[in-house]
Amino acid sequence: LQDKLESAFKNLKGQARITELNVASTIKEIRRALVDADVNYKIAKEFTDKIREKATGEKVLNAISPGQLMVKIVKDELTELMGGEEAVFNAKGNPAVILIAGLQGSGKTTFSGKLANYLKSKKGLSPLLVAADIYRPAAMEQLRVLGEQIGVEVYIEPENKDAVSIAKNAIAESKSRNKNVIIIDTAGRLAVDEQMMTEVADIKNAVNPQEILFVVDSMTGQDAVNTAKAFNERLDFSGVVLTKLDGDTRGGAALSIKYTVNKPIKFVSNGEKMDALDVFYPERMAQRILGMGDITTLVERAQQQFDEEQAKKLESKIRKNKFDFADFKAQLDQIKKMGNMKDLLGMIPGVGAKIKDLDISDESFKGIEAMIDSMTPEERSNPDIINGSRRKRIATGSGKDIAEVNAFMKQFEQMRDMMKNMNKMGAFGRMMPGMG
Ligand code: GDP
Ligand code: MG
Repeated sequence: LQDKLESAFKNLKGQARITELNVASTIKEIRRALVDADVNYKIAKEFTDKIREKATGEKVLNAISPGQLMVKIVKDELTELMGGEEAVFNAKGNPAVILIAGLQGSGKTTFSGKLANYLKSKKGLSPLLVAADIYRPAAMEQLRVLGEQIGVEVYIEPENKDAVSIAKNAIAESKSRNKNVIIIDTAGRLAVDEQMMTEVADIKNAVNPQEILFVVDSMTGQDAVNTAKAFNERLDFSGVVLTKLDGDTRGGAALSIKYTVNKPIKFVSNGEKMDALDVFYPERMAQRILGMGDITTLVERAQQQFDEEQAKKLESKIRKNKFDFADFKAQLDQIKKMGNMKDLLGMIPGVGAKIKDLDISDESFKGIEAMIDSMTPEERSNPDIINGSRRKRIATGSGKDIAEVNAFMKQFEQMRDMMKNMNKMGAFGRMMPGMG
């Protein structure tokens, strides 16, 4: 997903202005990226329609840094879609009962341990873990081991084959054990299954939990949405836990699930260790989905590009081999805004080697500018008329010696030759945006 979105934003790279046209193509790519990441098509479409509406508003079209604004719009919209603010998780009660539900292998037992650890160490609560997965002795043992690891008591009834009564007994027991939060780890199935749903629903009805957390593996893509829907219909859960975010998923599931069931994502789990748990921050997830670090780089570059109109004018001059000192000066002004010129030019495919020997260090800007300033307008637009005596005058005017002026004139000629060659090769379209 990250790569796809990156390429979508690459579209904006080099666009000094966002036009309706490049909004449209960028939107199309963002949508494709989301769909490829298992975001439901309808969700992706509604999402990108909203983005388009905002991006084609006059504000963005006329913005000084539209690329950045566009990224901000996408990020804000993603953040909003995933709940905006971080969700409230309520673990206060006497005792507070938290029911954990989800498919087998989604990470319920691991999360139960993490949550107990979090409530104990971060919230100063006294949790009791309850092993209500009665079908697999290994499941109870797994929870017992986790509890031992984090120093939290685990309630187990190895002989009891009724999950509902185990949950009820545990709550009764919690008072005498001085526990103020009960975390009930339930059994899951590999797929949505009526018996499993009934059992979890029965536990819910018997213990009246104040939080029901639906645990889902973030790697399961579109299936995660269907599972979330089925669980929500039966349990009306209060929040979602996304697990296995330490994998290479970009978090598309977070988007779809939130959109589909409209329940807040409350925690994200990102590893097998007991402290690999985070509260869910929508903005962080939006950044993850967007691969924000890279996007920022792209946006910065986009900002650094030439103004489109100016670039067009320049293009036609270069095409007619009429690039002159006035254009050169204008480009210098642009380039100064962009930072290191040699680095920037070096990034253009096929240019790096050609400029290797040219003196275009940033410090040389000042002298070059002085020399151009010392030219008459006529000289600037007709570099060919700059003969020996004119060079002498320019040298005096700019406080340079004649050799420096000569060297600069030579560099300028080399540059014009390079442009001529690029014209012939048709490579200029790639060199500067809007010039193809
Ligand atoms: P349950 O069947 O829903 O109780 O799932 P488990 O808690 O037993 O987890 C299933 C597997 O996923 C185990 O091997 C866990 O160690 C692993 N697991 C759970 N959460 C995470 C996570 O956030 N990241 C990774 N990498 N593995 C996890
Ligand atoms: Mg389990």
